[in-house]
Amino acid sequence: MLSSQQPIKLLYNEDGSLCAALLHPDLWSILQPEVLKILNEKGLALESSAPQAPSSSRPTQRSEPISDWEELTAYWDFSYPVDYDVSCEHCGAHTDNWQQDNPRTFCLSAANLGGLVSFECQRCGARIVKKHFEDVIATECTPPQQQDPRKMGKYSTPSGLAANGSSPDASAQED
Ligand SMILES: [Zn+2]
Repeated sequence: MLSSQQPIKLLYNEDGSLCAALLHPDLWSILQPEVLKILNEKGLALESSAPQAPSSSRPTQRSEPISDWEELTAYWDFSYPVDYDVSCEHCGAHTDNWQQDNPRTFCLSAANLGGLVSFECQRCGARIVKKHFEDVIATECTPPQQQDPRKMGKYSTPSGLAANGSSPDASAQED
């Protein structure tokens, strides 16, 4: 993944030819004026796909970003093959290939070229994040937020007053 230590990632096609380069935003902010100047001199335009609206940190759309995943696998340059298995540490759900599950055991919620892939466990709602590094995959499982609106319901406990039964002390004195 891109970091301030490794601000450039080169992407190669299957035949080994360079096809793209990713820049860390910090590096891009430094290079941008120079790049724009060069582009301008050459009469080229910068294609920007910056989103107009700030994207929410938690996407709620149900559709899976399959195209992002396919883009990642197309430019896969890690030292191991593409991994399709997903496990949920929270509820124990597991699949050897999340894409083949119908219905999904794990829904893809995000994927990017840096190697970050996240899923949502359809059984318990936990979020599973797989971080792909050069040689290893780090997996994180975040339990679902416990937000059950039904817990707002009030309990009406019948406050039954224990009736002190009529004790037989009312002794009638008779002469
Ligand atoms: Zn789960």
